[in-house]
Amino acid sequence: MADLLVFGSIAYDCIETPTDSEDYILGGSAAYAAIAASYFAPVKIAGIVGADFKPSDLERLRARGIDTSGMEFSPKPTFFWRGRYHDNFNSRDTLDLQLNAFEGYVPNLPQSCASAEYVLLGNISPEHQKTVLDSVKNPKFVVLDTMNFWIETARAALDAMLPRADLFILNDSEAKMLSGERNIILAGEKLAKISGGAVIIKTGEYGAMLFHKEGFFVVPAYPVRELHDPTGAGDSFAGALVGYLAGEDKTDFSAIKRGMVYAAATASITVESFSCYKLERSGRDEIERRAEYIKQISRL
Ligand code: AMP
Repeated sequence: MADLLVFGSIAYDCIETPTDSEDYILGGSAAYAAIAASYFAPVKIAGIVGADFKPSDLERLRARGIDTSGMEFSPKPTFFWRGRYHDNFNSRDTLDLQLNAFEGYVPNLPQSCASAEYVLLGNISPEHQKTVLDSVKNPKFVVLDTMNFWIETARAALDAMLPRADLFILNDSEAKMLSGERNIILAGEKLAKISGGAVIIKTGEYGAMLFHKEGFFVVPAYPVRELHDPTGAGDSFAGALVGYLAGEDKTDFSAIKRGMVYAAATASITVESFSCYKLERSGRDEIERRAEYIKQISRL
């Protein structure tokens, strides 16, 4: 079993779905990903939070066994995001985004994080992702995530990060935006050539596609009937996937395919509640059950 460093936003979110809303709940790419990954491997989280960050939220991370020694504290407020989902739950508007503590932040990784073998650079500015990756001494497998906001506002820095990723994860509309292709297959193939080798394109409630030099693979999504809040689905998918790879200490095509099944299972639990509340309650048994079900429904 190898260890995993998860870096990205650690946020307070205010979220409105067509049926419900919650204010100032723990979110951010690193928080979702670290909690998801913690079911598979020893996880260290890095990022910065503000003076308003609640001790109870720090405790939620620690209760999952996550090493928080790479978290830094700023006098500014915690990263803030406000989002509203449209009626179909599939698309959403960002109503407010405040980098707050992340503004001007230069990550300073402690030794415990700099020695990690597996690295997940969760969604945050590519400049921050670069600083963190430069600080990791000998990374064995690097996974990179991003979102439309950074494609639109930090394209050059993102382009410079792509070849450094062993696996690049993004969603279908982002893949089309970044590649300039209208066809998702062509987009995946093009991005796989530009990135360090492999690309996963997430297709929301339909699943995810892997473009790898050894082949192509598709995992369906677990059929969710109690959708409460899609926020963090992608981050938990990425966290569970790289957590699985670190746990097995394997990075070949077949390990990534198995990891995608666990990733889809884990993400399906995340969307059944706000924040990570349900994922924190459910545990590995529920992930295993859903992973088995996904295997069963995708086999002839
Ligand atoms: P996802 O639903 O997977 O796109 O992730 C949503 C999470 O990403 C929320 O908890 C937000 O706090 C966080 N987030 C939103 N916008 C950004 C951004 N531009 N950079 C980093 N994290 C973000």
